[in-house]
Amino acid sequence: MPKKKPEPAKKAETKKKVVKKAAKVEEVVEKKVKPTPTLLRGFRDILPEEQGRWNFIRDTARTIAEAYTFDRIDLPILERTDLFLRTIGKGTDVIDKEMYTFADPSNRNVALRPEATASAARAYITHGMLDRPQPVKLWYQGPMFRHDRPQAGRFRQFYQLGFESFGASEPIVDAQLIVLGMQIFKDLGLDVKVQINSIGTYDCRQAYLAELVAYFRQHRSKLSDDDKRRLQKNPLRLLDSKEEVTRELLEGAPQILDWLDDKSKDHFMKVLEFMEDIEIPFELNPYLVRGLDYYTHTVFEFILADSDPNKAQNALGGGGRYDGLVEALGGRETPACGFALGIERIARALSDKDINPPQRPQPAVFFAQLGDASRRVGLKLFEEFRQAGIPMAEAFGKNALKAQLEVANKVGVQLTLILGQKEVLDGTIIIRDMDSGAQEIVDVKKVVSLVEKKLSSKQGVAPVVQSPISTVK
Ligand code: AMP
Repeated sequence: MPKKKPEPAKKAETKKKVVKKAAKVEEVVEKKVKPTPTLLRGFRDILPEEQGRWNFIRDTARTIAEAYTFDRIDLPILERTDLFLRTIGKGTDVIDKEMYTFADPSNRNVALRPEATASAARAYITHGMLDRPQPVKLWYQGPMFRHDRPQAGRFRQFYQLGFESFGASEPIVDAQLIVLGMQIFKDLGLDVKVQINSIGTYDCRQAYLAELVAYFRQHRSKLSDDDKRRLQKNPLRLLDSKEEVTRELLEGAPQILDWLDDKSKDHFMKVLEFMEDIEIPFELNPYLVRGLDYYTHTVFEFILADSDPNKAQNALGGGGRYDGLVEALGGRETPACGFALGIERIARALSDKDINPPQRPQPAVFFAQLGDASRRVGLKLFEEFRQAGIPMAEAFGKNALKAQLEVANKVGVQLTLILGQKEVLDGTIIIRDMDSGAQEIVDVKKVVSLVEKKLSSKQGVAPVVQSPISTVK
């Protein structure tokens, strides 16, 4: 007997079912194998709950920059690699190991900036700032990139706030920059001290380096591989080596301060005298050299007053004088001095001290809507409240009044405005006091001024209170 063919309609239905099933299986398989994107190592999101501290740091720096008449500059994140090779210098960790460099689509060799002083010096030349009244004082903030091994307090993308002063060689410039940095920490409520040293001019450093290399060559066999590499490529970095053997050897090593020429000594003494005059707590650290090639004379770092000197990554910022930098980039001889602060490290110090400023003002008013007509009026009301400086919360994803009032309670507002269809028609709105539950129907045109009055009589102060988010560390 021939096989009975299925009816065409049934056949189509079966086919539909099979296709549907296959699509579902595919979806499941796809879901299973679809990897969730992850962050690159050493990169991080700065979440809303951290922004209170970040704003506090940025706002404090800005206020102080303006008080000391520094001008804001924004510099590109991507620059020609050559800029950093010529300034930071080969033989430094930043150049040899840590730079993000690549060929751009035009086959130019470019780098994500590892720091911004070189860019600031480049900008000084690019825009002929030599012709402006000197010193030219610039400040910036933004992300920097270094492909170092990530650890606590060390990221591959991190943010710096920097201050640079171009065109004045006087020691007072160094001292004023240090005072400015210290003032930022003071205003942030952090107890910070300065470590300071002088590495003199390029010439006196060469004589010193010859001595230092001769000394460490005698002990070469005791050094770690890293420090052997430093001895060969950048012997000054032996001074801030973290290796115990090297640190012990350093006690018998020649000290750079003994090799400073008279001019360098005089410069350094004057900086220290200024610091004493205005009672900036500082410590002489003969091993402080900083990692980059372009420094001359004064070098300094800001560290927490109670920080463990043996703990790595404890500097909140650092800088120094870099009199040869502009010239190294082909500009005219221009003395300069500056420093950069690490925002992540400062934010961590604030968190450790439970300093948690609010991220934004906490809303004291909630808008509950019932229906589309109410939403339309609501959009206008939001703008009126914004103009009055009263932040307002809502839950546009919810329709039921009960659900919206629950959100209002969670947010912790004092007043909820309820707008139903009837109120829209009448030109009114309900103000609900969230403490007592009392409700009042008012003219919608007067609601902003009435809310203003109610909030100030409730608090006796402006309607801005601390955000609960500020308690999140
Ligand atoms: P530097 O010029 O390298 O001394 O950097 C100045 C400041 O930036 C340091 O004192 C740190 O606070 C911060 N900083 C430098 N490198 C990193 C990094 N990889 N991650 C986080 N902060 C950093």
